[in-house]
Amino acid sequence: MSRAQQITVLGATGSVGLSTLDVIARHPNLYQVFALTGFTRLKELLALCVRHVPRYAVVPTQDVARKLQDDLVAAGLDTRVLVGEEGLCEVAGHAQVDTVLAAIVGAAGLRPTLAAVEAGKKVLLANKESLVMSGSLFMQAVRQHGAVLLPIDSEHNAIFQCMPNDYSRGLNAVGVRRILLTASGGPFRETPLAELHDVTPEQACAHPVWSMGRKISVDSASMMNKGLELIEACWLFDARPAQVEVVIHPQSVIHSLVDYVDGSVLAQLGNPDMRTPIANALAWPVRIDSGVAPLDLFSIARLDFHAPDERRFPCLRLARQAAEAGDSAPATLNAVNEVAVAAFLDRRIRYLEIASMIEDVLGQQSVIALDELETVFEVDSKARVLAEQWLGRHGR
Ligand code: NDP
Ligand code: MG
Repeated sequence: MSRAQQITVLGATGSVGLSTLDVIARHPNLYQVFALTGFTRLKELLALCVRHVPRYAVVPTQDVARKLQDDLVAAGLDTRVLVGEEGLCEVAGHAQVDTVLAAIVGAAGLRPTLAAVEAGKKVLLANKESLVMSGSLFMQAVRQHGAVLLPIDSEHNAIFQCMPNDYSRGLNAVGVRRILLTASGGPFRETPLAELHDVTPEQACAHPVWSMGRKISVDSASMMNKGLELIEACWLFDARPAQVEVVIHPQSVIHSLVDYVDGSVLAQLGNPDMRTPIANALAWPVRIDSGVAPLDLFSIARLDFHAPDERRFPCLRLARQAAEAGDSAPATLNAVNEVAVAAFLDRRIRYLEIASMIEDVLGQQSVIALDELETVFEVDSKARVLAEQWLGRHGR
């Protein structure tokens, strides 16, 4: 029998990280945890190390690392603790690693995810923000280093499953007309528009279907998540923004669809549980048990579909505009959105101001070509400065 695949889980303490570890633990003969990384949830990281016995753990600072190292020794483990972005890149690109699960949230995931790509790993991508920021450079690095990039985002994993094997020849060449990206519509799908002014972070994070980290929960409420996913789909499947249509499907049973020129529409269905796309990508091209219950179509009974209302979801419109503008526009959109969501969660701005801030800052920033990674980070930093200035003028 072949040896177990060595897996690095970037963002192990988060929602996707924990779902990944759940799947891995079901198949100890197939997968072994090589490294786990955390940021603020350090007690949880220690417990995960005790459970999965990784070779490495990564934390943000030296102080935290010393404390975790002592705790690991006291627990009888010889897991080595590494520090900061350098540590993240080391465990992502380590010669003994086969597969990297990229599940750090936001721009912080970009360098470690790219380190995995540049080391030619199998990269399971949850961190959509890294692709949104640097799409062209990212995909170029995938090709150049022979990395295998597999989407974990449930919609993109669904599209991947509905595409023919040779989809990299181009959508036209394989007869794909459109990609239909489904969205649940989030907690505010039916909230009267006049009430959106007063919605709270708690309401925004109470997603009706998926249980996720706080940042992506707010993105789902505003549908910026779908906007980021539209950009993600364009890069993963070499599609133009006009070829990706967003469909609100409140039951979240169909995770996305592919529309072919002969009129066939292929969909992937399943219970809304991230362990399905994670297991699909981990084991691809074979299938393994994910722990997800079989879909019961009789209890679901009906599937509904609506077009999204851009007055309700202005972030979706802004993301589509950024996708069409290309170059640095998506990186700006992503950076301002990160600042805006954090400010909303801190109650410094209101929910509707997330879109206002993004629209204002996008209007202030010119679109430039992204020829190298440093330019991506410069665009990201500049957008964050402008967003902070916006907060200074409008925030509490
Ligand atoms: P969580 O907030 O639950 O987890 C984020 C992870 O990233 C945690 O391990 C966190 O550590 C770590 N982290 C946060 N900031 C930093 C930083 N600056 N440096 C290093 N590590 C950091 O998020 P999710 O798991 O929900 O989402 C992760 C990614 O997956 C996001 O990009 C999201 O868009 C994407 N995704 C998530 C889905 C979901 O169902 N949750 C579905 C599809 C995509 P700690 O917790 O210790 O602070
Ligand atoms: Mg998704």
